[in-house]
Amino acid sequence: MNDILPDEVGTWQFLEREAHRIFGLYGFNEIRVPVLEKTELFCRSIGEATDIVEKEMYTFEDRSGNSLTLRPEGTAPVMRSFIEHRLHAQDPVAKLYYMGPMFRYERPQKGRYRQFHQIGAEAVGIDDPMMDAQVLAMLCHYFKAVGIDQVSLQINSLGCPECRPAYRQALVAFLDERRSVLCSDCQRRCQTNPLRVLDCKVPACQEATTAAPSVLDHLCGGCAGHFSQVRNYLEALELDYSVNPRMVRGLDYYTKTTFEMVTGQLGSQNAVAAGGRYDGLISDLGGPALPGIGFAMGVERLVLLKSQNPATAQRPELFLAALGQTAARHCFLLMNDLQQRGLKVEMDFSGKSLKAQMRRAGKLNARYALIVGDDELAAGQAPLRNMDDASQETVALQELAAVLNSRLADCS
Ligand code: ATP
Ligand code: MG
Repeated sequence: MNDILPDEVGTWQFLEREAHRIFGLYGFNEIRVPVLEKTELFCRSIGEATDIVEKEMYTFEDRSGNSLTLRPEGTAPVMRSFIEHRLHAQDPVAKLYYMGPMFRYERPQKGRYRQFHQIGAEAVGIDDPMMDAQVLAMLCHYFKAVGIDQVSLQINSLGCPECRPAYRQALVAFLDERRSVLCSDCQRRCQTNPLRVLDCKVPACQEATTAAPSVLDHLCGGCAGHFSQVRNYLEALELDYSVNPRMVRGLDYYTKTTFEMVTGQLGSQNAVAAGGRYDGLISDLGGPALPGIGFAMGVERLVLLKSQNPATAQRPELFLAALGQTAARHCFLLMNDLQQRGLKVEMDFSGKSLKAQMRRAGKLNARYALIVGDDELAAGQAPLRNMDDASQETVALQELAAVLNSRLADCS
């Protein structure tokens, strides 16, 4: 679990701000749900035989003996809330997004942490392939807006309850013949969750499954048609993508379209965003039979990709250097007045020498510094120094805000 320190928080705020802006363009509204849910919610939705539920959840009993879990993902809590508040009664089409911390007990490494953050979006109520394409277009738009271009979109279809059992059977038959070379986790997955074998990172398992049957050859007519229409729309929107029939997602609720935004820059933590359709989830959780599709982006991984060109912290517009106690008191009131007028102003409270105060102004990267002592107070005017080119002018203290605003407008 990480602290996010002030020098990188600018990048976080930028990534969050752009999510509010871009998702808003597509008609998505923010929803905020608690970080704790009943454990049962995640077992029912994500699936008992998944890595998340089997070994990654932070689960504990509260004082009344209820089993609670720190949310490992956002889709199930958002759907729980959607159902609980009967949002479908107001409008069966809901476009929601969320951001915040998620918790998984994993082995920490670069791009993989125990508290991490996701920004995610969910579109409920429309099963048309156009919605799949719209959600993917929004995801690509976001990456473009935040200036991350070392990523590529991969898509797949996992079929539906009609066609997946036959695929699962074909895959199990294939895996059974190669069982002895699979890792012990995968030997177990053959029974519990055979599709996950295709996702195993152990080289021997990957090698043994290169010729595994493809899910795309087993889709029913409905799922195949849906997938080809999604591809059609992506092409019409001129979005680059590739089809990866080996992409299975680690959560059981996915149906039909699944996708990942992958990068080559983060080692084996190659997925920056991931998602898919979940047409059975809402009814499985006791809600109406509404389809849904969504994704979640890992913010830490976005930050790692963004760190090549970090957003610089906002510069103070003015630093007030005060000489002596009377001037310090005056500067303090002046600073407050300028801040109320919307200017970003700093001063030093420690009564240091002028030289030390100017060093501080430089360290904070202030645009201007105003130097105020007893003489300046008596004259009602003081020298204003442009810290970028060291030029100086004398400014009447009465007019400081106006002068500063006009200088700042000139240089921006
Ligand atoms: P991975 O294959 O990397 O384990 P996942 O399939 O478990 O990812 P999802 O549950 O789909 O991931 O979550 C969506 C996104 O959240 C991922 O693509 C990733 O960017 C991010 N993410 C998931 N787990 C972590 C983690 N432990 N630390 C940081 N980011 C994470
Ligand atoms: Mg994972």
